[in-house]
Amino acid sequence: MKRRLSLMLAVLLPCIAIAQQPPLRLLVGFPAGGSNDVIARHLAQGMSDQLQRNVIVENKPGAGGQLAAVALRSAAADGNTLFLSNSHALAMIPLTVRQPGYDPQRDFVPVGLVAISNDVLAVNPKLLGDVRNLKGLIDWANAHPGKGSVGVPAPASDPYFGVQILARDFGGDVTPIPYRGDGPVVQDVVAGQIPAGIGSIGAMMQYEREGRVRVIAVSGPRRLPSIPHVPTYVEQGLAGYGVSGFVAVLAPAGLPTDLVRRYNRAVTRVVESPAFAAKVSELGVLPPPVRPMRLARASRRRRRPSPRWWSARDTRARDPARHSRPSHRSSPWQAPRPRGIATMTVLIAGGGIAGLSLALTCQQIGVSFKVFETVRRIRPLGVGINLQPSAVRELMDLGLGHLLDDIGVRTRDYGMYTKHGLHIWTEPRGLQAGYRWPQYSVHRGRLHMMLYEELLRRAGPDCVECGWAATGFADEGGKAVLHLRNAEGADRIERGDILVGADGIHSAIRRQIAPDEGEPVWGGAVLWRGTSRAIPYKTGASMVMIGHSGLRFVAYPISAPDPRTGLATINWIANLNYEPGQPWNKEDWNREARLEDFLPRFTDMRFDWLDVPALIAAADTVYEYPMVDRDPLGHWTVGRTSLMGDAAHAAYPVGSNGAGSAIIDARELGRAFLEHGLTPEALSAYEARMRPATAQVILTNRVAGPDSILDLVEERCGGRFDRIEDVVPQEELARHSVQYKAIAGYSVQATNERPPTIEPGVRIR
Ligand SMILES: Cc1cc2nc3c(=O)[nH]c(=O)nc-3n(C[C@H](O)[C@H](O)[C@H](O)COP(=O)(O)OP(=O)(O)OC[C@H]3O[C@@H](n4cnc5c(N)ncnc54)[C@H](O)[C@@H]3O)c2cc1C
Repeated sequence: MKRRLSLMLAVLLPCIAIAQQPPLRLLVGFPAGGSNDVIARHLAQGMSDQLQRNVIVENKPGAGGQLAAVALRSAAADGNTLFLSNSHALAMIPLTVRQPGYDPQRDFVPVGLVAISNDVLAVNPKLLGDVRNLKGLIDWANAHPGKGSVGVPAPASDPYFGVQILARDFGGDVTPIPYRGDGPVVQDVVAGQIPAGIGSIGAMMQYEREGRVRVIAVSGPRRLPSIPHVPTYVEQGLAGYGVSGFVAVLAPAGLPTDLVRRYNRAVTRVVESPAFAAKVSELGVLPPPVRPMRLARASRRRRRPSPRWWSARDTRARDPARHSRPSHRSSPWQAPRPRGIATMTVLIAGGGIAGLSLALTCQQIGVSFKVFETVRRIRPLGVGINLQPSAVRELMDLGLGHLLDDIGVRTRDYGMYTKHGLHIWTEPRGLQAGYRWPQYSVHRGRLHMMLYEELLRRAGPDCVECGWAATGFADEGGKAVLHLRNAEGADRIERGDILVGADGIHSAIRRQIAPDEGEPVWGGAVLWRGTSRAIPYKTGASMVMIGHSGLRFVAYPISAPDPRTGLATINWIANLNYEPGQPWNKEDWNREARLEDFLPRFTDMRFDWLDVPALIAAADTVYEYPMVDRDPLGHWTVGRTSLMGDAAHAAYPVGSNGAGSAIIDARELGRAFLEHGLTPEALSAYEARMRPATAQVILTNRVAGPDSILDLVEERCGGRFDRIEDVVPQEELARHSVQYKAIAGYSVQATNERPPTIEPGVRIR
């Protein structure tokens, strides 16, 4: 009995110890599933056993690990938080970002080195044929000008500089394209979205075995035993890229030495264990544990890169001595400068969907830019919106395609129903309709944050300045001048070559261009918008419009169903009409509403496939928005200033194209900059392409948006029929749908056959 008791205690005591302590957080700067995350999860499991304490991995992806490093700096030195950093966050970000938000020497204490990591350069054999080495890649890139994009896991990372050295030393027309971690790079190389990319060994080798990529170079000073057939960059003549990265555990400065030692012992035991080595060897990393002080020395060494490294940062530099220390006057990653010409800047007023899409486009084509946003902090606001394939295509060309499935749902079809739930018309959407790109239904806030985080990651944290509202503009001495004011009433001006007003429906820039215009036009409709968790209906990715314009309900899912509950997030919009003459609340996307103002009108909409009142009642928050638009303007451009997005062409949100046309504006502006430079001619060319078409959409959405069929059916039969063909012939339904798509610029054929707005890899000269 005594023996049984002591056995039980032996089993239970560690559990009690684990339960008593708070979990130890191990921060990781990348999304789940990447190589850092996988290492962290194996390490956390081993450390839990060693420390007899729960160790949980907390992913804080963003800006190449910078956000996680900043989180560690803010954490208390109480032994409850550690950070699994890679060399990029520990050594490169502090060297290349003006205000990284942490100083590794001052703010962190090293706990233990976990792994030495190398990466590999792989090409897509379908695109590049027989290319088998760096020279072959360079020859191919030079024979295909503007197409030599090489995906890299982060801006200003070792691979980013490696590609720059490749371009400079081999005279190759190759450009590093920064991604959000190596997972998406690998996916895009495999899918043939880009010809080449640099990623982790584990991920790339898996696809090499399947013949879908060919690995042509490995980083580090010597070949790796696990991939002996792959030559190093150095062997192939690229003397400046002989580095390996490392992965290490850090703690906040001030952690008591006995805890540092304890954690170091735990880390060392885990990484020395054959089990850990077996698990991480698939990733191609080598585990060399060292004691804390040796790690500190290693990270100090990495803070002093060779002059050669610095010269790779800026291809203008021929004198390495000038770059022995980083210049901090401005973030060099804001937009790589074109060779041999002075920096030209696009000022962007407004950091919404339009402004951030333009900023990402500028970054992609090598145009320097700065965004000024009135709110103090960008937050994920709004509810659902739709992105038509024509806009999705542009996001994919911006290298964002791999992020869209994380934030939304690929819409499959679009159906119209009477207020009694009778079926009028369904048409396929996105890939199902024959487009080469999907349509997405997404949460506006998640799309906005995705653009924002990706922009900061690619261009550095200084490229968006929040808390400054545009108040007006001028043209002075061949420059665009932007007037700004902050919440405290302080004024300042910024000068650039071009100014774009992307400041939404209440644009201050537009107000100066059209001073007599007044407030947006309200036609009498009010929208109540919300999201609810519910069982998806129809195909699970169906957008439905029910009723008619005086009593309309729209719904579409914006998330996949939770596998545990079966519930998805369904976006919905309830729409009632009032006398346009009566006063209504000024439009504000964030105004919260009361259910009793509109729910009673929708209580009859209970169908066997959708219970509308239940869906409305399940929403956490409901927003109210008077449906407004603005009359088309006669011109958008004054000298060096123009408009885009809602500032240029706010239309009724009935055609699923508000955000999409803002994205297309951004790409057309980018195209115009490439064709005409940062000149007034570029703005005129952009306006000539976009203004007439968007004006037509504004006018069409007022009277004959895609849902005007609902009104026709309501008018003809009050929403009741035996056969829809007796009310509206199928040909009429089909014709209407095709016509609207043609007006809105997203017909299947036009979208599929149009060449890219901006050819991949093209940069301003
Ligand atoms: C908070 C919010 C929520 C929204 N929710 C929805 C929704 O649920 N459904 C829907 O269909 N559409 C919604 N929209 C509108 C939708 O985003 C736009 O119609 C479309 O995406 C076009 O984008 P845009 O960038 O032109 O405008 P917006 O996305 O409106 O962005 C304009 C940006 O400019 C900023 N800004 C405004 N004035 C100034 C100034 N003077 N100086 C500097 N910056 C300024 C704003 O803060 C905003 O970030 C919302 C817009 C906002 C701002």
